[in-house]
Amino acid sequence: HAKRSGRGLVVVYTQDMEEAAKRVTRIEQALRRAVSAGEVEPHFQPIVDLASRRIIGFEALARWTDGDLGSVSPGVFIPIAEERGIIGQLSQLLLRKATLAARQWPESVFLSFNLSPSQLVDQNTCNQIMTILSRSGLDPRRLEIEITETGVMSDPASAEKIMQELRSYGIRIALDDFGTGQSSLGRLREFHFDKIKIDQAFVASILTDRASEHIVRAILAMCEGLNMDVVAEGIEDEAQAARLLEFGCPSGQGYYFGRPVDAETALFGLGNRIGQRQAIV
Ligand code: C2E
Ligand code: MG
Ligand code: MG
Ligand code: MG
Repeated sequence: HAKRSGRGLVVVYTQDMEEAAKRVTRIEQALRRAVSAGEVEPHFQPIVDLASRRIIGFEALARWTDGDLGSVSPGVFIPIAEERGIIGQLSQLLLRKATLAARQWPESVFLSFNLSPSQLVDQNTCNQIMTILSRSGLDPRRLEIEITETGVMSDPASAEKIMQELRSYGIRIALDDFGTGQSSLGRLREFHFDKIKIDQAFVASILTDRASEHIVRAILAMCEGLNMDVVAEGIEDEAQAARLLEFGCPSGQGYYFGRPVDAETALFGLGNRIGQRQAIV
């Protein structure tokens, strides 16, 4: 677009890029401060058993509100943290807080935690995770690590080594946002994922788009054959939950069951709702 429109617009475009770069730097600086001050918090979104509607786990999702910038979405600050070398420190802060929160939950409830691609090429990652787990006293078998296809593909050999190490301690590995990346089905077998998280894009259109329905059913059949657990992400209403259950999907996550909430609210919700056979909204 800019190319076809001649020189004038190219200059405007360059100014936009300069503005964007300035904003990234501002976010980076504020984030460094926040991480040092321990001001980034994990929130927790329930993962439920679709048949009983019981909470079986929580996914930790980073939340950050800066005094000047206001609330910044993880979709914005996680990539910046990754790009500017802050992700390791940020992730350790979040895992410390998340494991302390998870210690308050019943033993049967797991914690799911996202790792960024660069952490799968850093050979210290497993040690750092194990140190945090032993300090907070959380059983590694209650931890699940979510990684994306992009994270695995940047350096498959390194990712596999770190994943094997994590699994040797009983930590489970889930493949996040499945179906949207450059997935090679062969890799699924090679990497021994414990769980697949079906991307929310398929769930959003499962009732309206036959193709989505077929893809979801194929993923479920494949996971059953490969003996992998599955969770459907982004469930927003009962009709989607019912259809997924009908197709044999064992577990789900989404706004219908609960939005991400702070540690205290998650614990309160567990006290009220665990073991209750009803929708969690
Ligand atoms: P993700 O790991 O795939 O997390 C799911 C995202 O979908 C979350 O967005 C969640 O709030 C949102 N979501 C959950 N249920 C629904 C629903 O029913 N409908 C819709 N439309 N959205 C739903 P969020 O919290 O903004 O996080 C975005 C992404 O940022 C995450 O995607 C993850 O890739 C990354 N992220 C978040 N926290 C962390 C973290 O602590 N570490 C790392 N490395 N990445 C993180
Ligand atoms: Mg995730
Ligand atoms: Mg996801
Ligand atoms: Mg996602």
